[in-house]
Amino acid sequence: MSTWRDERNRATLARLRRALPAIFPAPVLAHALSRPLVPATPRRAIESYWRAHPLRADQLARALAGLGQAPDGWEWRLGPEGRSTSFRAPPAPFREKAYALGPGHCCVCGQPVFRLGWHRDLWGDGKPNRNAGWHSACVAAWRFWNDPSQQVQALKKRQARRCAQSGRRLLKSSEVDHRVPLFRVWRERGEHRWPAILAYWGAPNLQVINRDAHVAKCAAEAGARAGRSQSAYSPVLEA
Ligand SMILES: [Zn+2]
Repeated sequence: MSTWRDERNRATLARLRRALPAIFPAPVLAHALSRPLVPATPRRAIESYWRAHPLRADQLARALAGLGQAPDGWEWRLGPEGRSTSFRAPPAPFREKAYALGPGHCCVCGQPVFRLGWHRDLWGDGKPNRNAGWHSACVAAWRFWNDPSQQVQALKKRQARRCAQSGRRLLKSSEVDHRVPLFRVWRERGEHRWPAILAYWGAPNLQVINRDAHVAKCAAEAGARAGRSQSAYSPVLEA
């Protein structure tokens, strides 16, 4: 098995080195070379790097979005035309047809995308990459925001493996939780602005808690939800 892997890695490493531009982010290359299976292309090396660093990708994607603002007239709404069908997905104005910036701009953060999906023009191309519509970092951030439970290990590590509610040691059955529940973010959407609102999907609003603490928190939230008048909210959207 390891002979097969060694041979494969020798071949892919040669391929990667041939395809590598003269300028390439050093941490990405170091990460690629440390993989049990070396990624075969510079683009895959970058994807692998961000996949392995979801919290860093989250922070970067929010910082990039923070360089701009929501387009004039845009509001967070659910529905067709590129909008999300659930308030559980983060709002993304530039993914909506009416506000799309077109090739060369990231549909998550709205900033220009450069060679290999990188967020900075390391190569001095002087223009965005017209074939790209996402930053590699924003792909990883988008996945993380939509399904943070996939990154439970990274989040546990950040909390030194202690339950964020009780302070006790996190058990195997512990779960990822949004401190401020997303239904509340949706309900209070008039008070938030994009891009700052993205923090509710990112690490600042995520915690890992033990299952018993999570059950108690969810019950309290359900009680708070039921106590509100339902008339102003569509039950379809809240489901
Ligand atoms: Zn982006």
